[in-house]
Formats: sequence, C-alpha cells, structure tokens
Amino acid sequence: MPRSKSDPLAPYRAKRSLERTPEPAGSHASSGISGAGGLFVVHKHAARRLHFDLRLEMDGVLRSWAVPKGPSYDTADKRLAVHVEDHPLEYGDFEGLIPEGNYGAGAVIVWDRGEWIPIEDPIEGLRKGKLLFDLRGYKLHGRWTLVKIKKSEKDWLLIKERDSWATTEPESIPEQSVLSGLTVE
Ligand code: MN
Repeated sequence: MPRSKSDPLAPYRAKRSLERTPEPAGSHASSGISGAGGLFVVHKHAARRLHFDLRLEMDGVLRSWAVPKGPSYDTADKRLAVHVEDHPLEYGDFEGLIPEGNYGAGAVIVWDRGEWIPIEDPIEGLRKGKLLFDLRGYKLHGRWTLVKIKKSEKDWLLIKERDSWATTEPESIPEQSVLSGLTVE
C-alpha cells in the first residue's frame, strides 16, 4: 500500500503491527471523500488507563480525541480531549480485544455511535481549534463544543452546550456497547 506524507492514516499504521491486532488496516486515505459531518463514534477503551475515544468523520477519516473521563452532560464540566491520530472510517465498526504487547492493548467497545452535524465550518474549525456540532447518537444528543486549549499542542476540551439535553444530574448513561451489548469487562 503506497504511503505518502499526505496520507492521514500513516501515523495510525505506524503505531500498530497490523498483523498482530484485530484493528482494521483501513483502506488508503479514502481520497475523494472530502468535507465533514456524518459518522461519529465514541469508543470505550480499557487500555492501560480506561478512556473514551471521540471520533468525527472528516475528509474521509475519523478525526480522534482521547477523552480520559468521557463526555459529560453537565455544561460546567470541561473534559480534557487529547487530539490523537486519525483513524480509518472502518474503525467505526471496530470492537474487540487488542492483544497484550500491542499499541492500545485492551478491550474496545462502541460505546456510542450516530451522526454528527457541524454547526460552523469544521475544516476551518479544526485549524482554528474550535468545533461546534450536534450529536445524534443513542447516548449522546444535543450540542457540543470541542475547543483547543491555547498554546497547547494536542489538548482540547469537550464541553456540553446549554440545551434541553444538558443536565447536572449524576450521569446514568448505560455502559454497554450500542452494537453488541458488551461491556469492556
Ligand atoms: Mn483509545
């Protein structure tokens, strides 16, 4: 598979031994697909440290952020979201066990999935460090912001915007996969 500097999935493949992990290799750079909106996925990932991975379809890949504490419906919570490497679109279906000794070893489930709708130009927003969007998932709904922390390289914040979905009630979002009903346990 040709690998070029412009292949957004090169870092994804470089981190993994694709013959030793069940994760998808990803068709090359999905060139031809541009624009944003479409699929969003939140993986729950029991790696060395349990975290959530928010992924938004953009330009033929899944732009990804690792969110240690996961999303919160409380507008006062600003959840750290570390911008990580792009993942292939096929990753939107991925659940499984990444074997010991591999990058990100541990269980992965599709914690939520659905459609994301950018409210402001997302390509520009990614460059400038602010994405405003609606989520239409099974668990996540309403309006959200991802905003980059100034002067940081990769640190963003995931924040719930005020709307009818926002709540300060303790979260009681089900833990199971929306695909299989499995938990990371
Ligand atoms: Mn992860």
